[in-house]
Amino acid sequence: MHEASIAHELLTLAIKECKNSGYNRIESIKITVGRATGIMTDALLFAFNVLKEGSPADKALLVIEEIPVRGVCKDCGKRFESNENYLIFECPSCGSFSIELVSGKELNITEMEVSNEN
Ligand SMILES: [Zn+2]
Repeated sequence: MHEASIAHELLTLAIKECKNSGYNRIESIKITVGRATGIMTDALLFAFNVLKEGSPADKALLVIEEIPVRGVCKDCGKRFESNENYLIFECPSCGSFSIELVSGKELNITEMEVSNEN
């Protein structure tokens, strides 16, 4: 399962960051996920909640912000946006394949709340 390995990577990275900053608990993790990544956020959340058990993030809340796919066509110059959960390969206006994606491929941790357990 694709989402499980992504959740595992996010968790590993977050725990590492948390420890590096001298904290031992993660309260919340905010991530951005571009729709062009094809990641199913429900599956990602589910995997995260299973994997976090017994880790410094076991009470952490995962907040997922989805970024729509945005692009611009190099032929007709039109900008477009899609909330479909897949990558766009052609311009919706003229059908050209010369498009440039401006957003939608994100997969980042944008914010993290950490604390120290007494
Ligand atoms: Zn076009």
